[in-house]
Amino acid sequence: MPIKLLDPQVVARIAAGEVVERPASVVKELVENALDAGATQVTVEAAGGGISLIRVTDNGVGIPANEVELAFQRHATSKIASLVDLESISTLGFRGEALASLIAVGEVELATCAAGETAGSYLHLVDGEIVDRTPQGRSRGTTITVRGLFHNVPARLKFLKSTATEGGHIAAVVTHYALAYPEVRFTLSVDRRTTLSTPGNGRLIDCVVEVYGADTARGMIELRRDNSWDGAGQDTVAVTGLVGSPAVSRSNRNYLSCFVNRRWVNSRLLTWALEEAYHGLLMTGKHPAAVLNISIPPGEVDVNIHPAKMEVKFRDERRVFAAVQRLVRRALIEPVSLPRIEDPAATYAAPTSSLSTRPLPAEKVERPSGLPLARPVPAFALPALRPLGQVAGCYIVAEGPDGLYLIDQHAAHERVLFEQIVGQRAQRQLEVQGLLEPQTFEVSPAQNAALLSRLDELAGFGFTLEPFGERAYLVRAVPAFLNRKDWMAVLREIADSPGGGEDWSERTTASIACHSAVRAGQTLGDDEMRALLRQLEQTALPSTCPHGRPTMLHLNSAYLEREFGRRG
Ligand code: ADP
Ligand code: MG
Repeated sequence: MPIKLLDPQVVARIAAGEVVERPASVVKELVENALDAGATQVTVEAAGGGISLIRVTDNGVGIPANEVELAFQRHATSKIASLVDLESISTLGFRGEALASLIAVGEVELATCAAGETAGSYLHLVDGEIVDRTPQGRSRGTTITVRGLFHNVPARLKFLKSTATEGGHIAAVVTHYALAYPEVRFTLSVDRRTTLSTPGNGRLIDCVVEVYGADTARGMIELRRDNSWDGAGQDTVAVTGLVGSPAVSRSNRNYLSCFVNRRWVNSRLLTWALEEAYHGLLMTGKHPAAVLNISIPPGEVDVNIHPAKMEVKFRDERRVFAAVQRLVRRALIEPVSLPRIEDPAATYAAPTSSLSTRPLPAEKVERPSGLPLARPVPAFALPALRPLGQVAGCYIVAEGPDGLYLIDQHAAHERVLFEQIVGQRAQRQLEVQGLLEPQTFEVSPAQNAALLSRLDELAGFGFTLEPFGERAYLVRAVPAFLNRKDWMAVLREIADSPGGGEDWSERTTASIACHSAVRAGQTLGDDEMRALLRQLEQTALPSTCPHGRPTMLHLNSAYLEREFGRRG
């Protein structure tokens, strides 16, 4: 075929494809427009997975009557005027493409009224052409209704998932923007059922209660602004938000929201920094719950990477990474006060939605009262605990200032020993236990290779090993922690762990701690229990074992009182 210029309609549809990938993209663009218009109330309605209907209503500044047609033209925007503006974008939109794309793939109605106007405008577009335009009364703000999305792009329609899945994507968009803008009242209704409704009172924690439920919200830690990290005293990267204590971790990353200058973004860098901060606190396969707000001078970040505007590029990635990782880590390991949550039973109605449309469904269904039965303790400093007894040879029952604690004796002791080993190694004071007679430790060729490359490091842990032929080692000394314990099991674990990697010494420390710790089923005397609790109180991270499992559960006084009917 000879080269030909494409028909404008084809061009429009190709371009639209980049911006409007699925119904949720339409919702995203319309919600962003509402927020850019300064709305304090945004209502999103969707039906049939967004294919039959999407309607977004806001109370923002509105579009002046003489601009309504222009708004639908490609590259028409009120948000930037020049190349210079592109260097520092402070609005969510700036490409002037969304409305133009929308009318290429769906039937659109606009009703809007700008501040100061007595009458508003109504515009109806079909296949990109205006079919009706009349004045129409309405209060200040804008409503855009989209019907029959992708009716003229069968290829796109074919690739959409079920209406429930598309509805879920829409819910995710609204949920994220609700978390990014706690001062805005968001309402989402899917197929006429309200599935999300945020208070718009400016409190992020209240949005989290609404979106993720009270259980998760209660385990969130507020990030405190860190002004100290930037030597110059002016921190150009400000990180705020809420991060979940390890106890509210999830098995996927759906509970992790990152916003850059209040734009919802997909950022591998931010996810990575966040997960680094949880290093050693989460079980493998678990991910944190978090709402991260990054504020950065607009010139430090490029959002003009892709038409969907979900990707960003930071000018100084290392700086952003460090800011996030450092602040989150500090929040997780320092004792902090939990954000106060009103009694959810009194303040918040039980979720009204069905699971299929609930945004980011919670992993466990809440009890009607919204109160957890017993919750793992966040990674904070532990109050003084008084042991009351032992249950099933595994758990210590203890009383604290606020109710009852159940402590897993093995996990707790592992945590204590882990930190002791780390401390002793840091001071080069790790105690070594010489063996009366050297013992042989037999290995396979693979194990041999793994150990041979680590002999020096193993010596640093107190293991003195000498190669003894091809298939064995002579062990002359072991860490004192493992005296009369199964140190061979530790060596086997080390020899069997593939590769090495940065966390080799952490894993080795954890393995020694695990095999030195009291085991489940071991009866403990009162003094032993008391000593273990005292030691646990001294640790930096009392609430999880080195593998990230919880060391304890807490039944607080309020819970006990409520369950025994002492309080309403
Ligand atoms: P962009 O957001 O990139 O400017 P859009 O195509 O999304 O491009 O919108 C074009 C223009 O229409 C915007 O710049 C804005 O002036 C106007 N507009 C769109 N939606 C709204 C709204 N909800 N309230 C006020 N103005 C709006
Ligand atoms: Mg826009």
